[in-house]
Amino acid sequence: FLSVATILGESARKHPDRVAVVDSGTRTGYRELWAGALRCAGALRASGVRPGDRVAVLLPNSADFLYAYYGVLAAGAAVVPVHGLLVAEEVAYVLRHSGSVALISDGPMWPVAEEAARAAGVRAVRGVPTGDAPLPAPEPAAPEDTAVILYTSGTTGRPKGALLTHLNIVMNATVVAHDLLRLDVDDVVLGCLPLFHTYGQSCAMNATLRAGATLVLMSRFSGAGALELLAAEGVSIFMGVPTMYHALVEAAAQDPGARDGTTLRAAVSGGAALPVAVLERFEETFSTQILEGYGLTETAPVASFNQPELGRRAGTVGHPIWGVETGVADAAVEDAVVLLPDGEVGEVVVRGHNVFAGYLDDPAATAAAVVDGWFRTGDLGVLDEDGFLSIVDRKKDLVIRGGFNIYPREVEEVLVRHPAVSEVAVIGVPDEARGEEICAVVVLRAGAEAVTEEELIGWSRERLGRHKYPRIVRFTGSLPLGPTGKILKRALTAPSSS
Ligand code: ATP
Repeated sequence: FLSVATILGESARKHPDRVAVVDSGTRTGYRELWAGALRCAGALRASGVRPGDRVAVLLPNSADFLYAYYGVLAAGAAVVPVHGLLVAEEVAYVLRHSGSVALISDGPMWPVAEEAARAAGVRAVRGVPTGDAPLPAPEPAAPEDTAVILYTSGTTGRPKGALLTHLNIVMNATVVAHDLLRLDVDDVVLGCLPLFHTYGQSCAMNATLRAGATLVLMSRFSGAGALELLAAEGVSIFMGVPTMYHALVEAAAQDPGARDGTTLRAAVSGGAALPVAVLERFEETFSTQILEGYGLTETAPVASFNQPELGRRAGTVGHPIWGVETGVADAAVEDAVVLLPDGEVGEVVVRGHNVFAGYLDDPAATAAAVVDGWFRTGDLGVLDEDGFLSIVDRKKDLVIRGGFNIYPREVEEVLVRHPAVSEVAVIGVPDEARGEEICAVVVLRAGAEAVTEEELIGWSRERLGRHKYPRIVRFTGSLPLGPTGKILKRALTAPSSS
């Protein structure tokens, strides 16, 4: 018996009167949250939802998201959290593909939900359902049962439904709460990452509730908004993706007094590479260490982390978490996992309690991803002699210029150190002579002195090998961001120069 619903149920038993979640100033205690989840479970059961069914949820970061998530699980069904930015047709695809029997939604997302549900022939439920029957007991679950189906962003064709088990999620939340962050009931975690995504769901929501701590929700991230909440709510743990750190540091620079009264004791970065320059600026501003971790939807998500006992090494993602192994394998060998020695760059592979059960109805994709018991991440990495893992880049973001492998991340790290540069993304653009040419797409810092393309190329040439420095620099007002705030490189095809 090991169910994700018991994450909330157990904390409600132990800390019924502590605040579980703060949504726009409204505080909900553990007892109340659990009772609401059970009421939702009761109503779902009464409407015909059976253990093993799937129920989709399309809600913004809100207390309702938690009621629905744990309610569906307590009913014995699997939750399908739907990405908040999808259009109706995409939502309908997820509903059909997952075989969801109902979709719970509300607020600004309701019109999309209603349209998608109609198209997919699925029942749409407006608002979290509540029954008036006595509170039901939560349905038991087995560790290997599917708890959550998370759809990937679909960079290669249709999105795939990653099947995450109760074991995957309970273990990840437990390790994050206890081993990695040592959360306790007095901690206050800022929930600014989207809860429909693996990072916000496991690390912010489930880990916080596992510890009986308080989750302060933000439905729309802004640096200034986050800064205000840090002080107002006494936030002790910030979790974000690198663009959020960047925004926080910028907001603090605009309004230096705003960081007085902040009480952060730790900060977690993941989801994308954290430029060392951003890490340094954040740590200077907030006098708090950033612990960088690494993971994916398919690994529930955390696989590797800079852990307190093992020391922190900036620029790396630390060591594998408790009960998990990571390795670096020969990326060219696809049908077997051939581990490489330390110091060699290869594909990061992961095995342990966090590896998902496969992609729903896609045995070919599952077989390609899980080889010899290892999950192949599609990321390139390298281990140093002390076992710290560094993520070099995504395999698919690699630029091959004149036969040389160029890792965009290395070039980005150099450019972001230029005083006029605020953010940068390096991509490959087609080039007749060299196959691909290196192009840097740059956002300049507000109020910085004008700088030219030539100057930034020169800056890079002084600091990078001849085969690596960008020959093209484009300026843009902002970089396209995905829902978690990660830079969407694939959307950066031909930005115009100004
Ligand atoms: P897609 O579905 O297109 O692969 P996604 O970003 O939606 O992208 P996620 O599962 O959310 O998929 O993100 C996992 C990816 O994020 C990893 O494969 C890796 O490329 C990247 N990532 C996560 N943490 C880090 C980190 N600390 N450093 C560098 N990259 C990271």
